Amino acid sequence: MPIRFVYFDVDNTLLDHSAAERAGLQDLHAAHAEAFTGVPVAQLQQTYHAASGPLWKQYAEGTIDKAAVKERRFAHTFGALGVALDPRAANAFYMARYATHWQAIDGALAAFEAVAAQLPVGIITNGFLETQRRKLDRFPVLRDRSAAVIISEETGVLKPHPRLFAEAAQRATVAPADILYVGDSLFSDVEGATRAGWQAAWYTTATDPVDAPVALRFHDWDTFAAWLL
Ligand SMILES: [Mg+2]
Repeated sequence: MPIRFVYFDVDNTLLDHSAAERAGLQDLHAAHAEAFTGVPVAQLQQTYHAASGPLWKQYAEGTIDKAAVKERRFAHTFGALGVALDPRAANAFYMARYATHWQAIDGALAAFEAVAAQLPVGIITNGFLETQRRKLDRFPVLRDRSAAVIISEETGVLKPHPRLFAEAAQRATVAPADILYVGDSLFSDVEGATRAGWQAAWYTTATDPVDAPVALRFHDWDTFAAWLL
């Protein structure tokens, strides 16, 4: 099938969200060494990550708002670890530090630009509006080359909600079957795109066999660019 438009996910596809999250938490740990006595940084990172997942799910389902996500991810983490810190202050500190650690994944921006030189491209990202906008400010090529930028908070639903993909397809002004979505999440990206009738490319470091309905499964961006262009 022809590909006439390429949408990219941002976090853990073009930018290394997970590394920035770990580094931001490491900074929080270092800034409050006394409060984290007996809690290794790796334990903070794992506990936070485990606490965040269900909260994002509830946020996606519309049962809690983003302020609750931000506060509760630290409230739950500190509760589980027995750490006496204010969750709201911790979140503010963490968000500021998280932003200092944003980095592109190796080869991702070069591949994005190479694709953008030949095909119309766009961005679809879940996440908090102000945070995702700041990421696009930090990596302006992503916005400057994009024919459409879709941030879930503006659409009112998160990936993999069909309404978000429908709006993205409309803005691409090509048939859904001619759109390729490139992302790291089987649930949010691959399934969302596939159900919308798009093609999908799955960026993953996983090596286990998974029966995913994707046009390409890849873990380095040169492979992706060579396959598409
Ligand atoms: Mg992602």
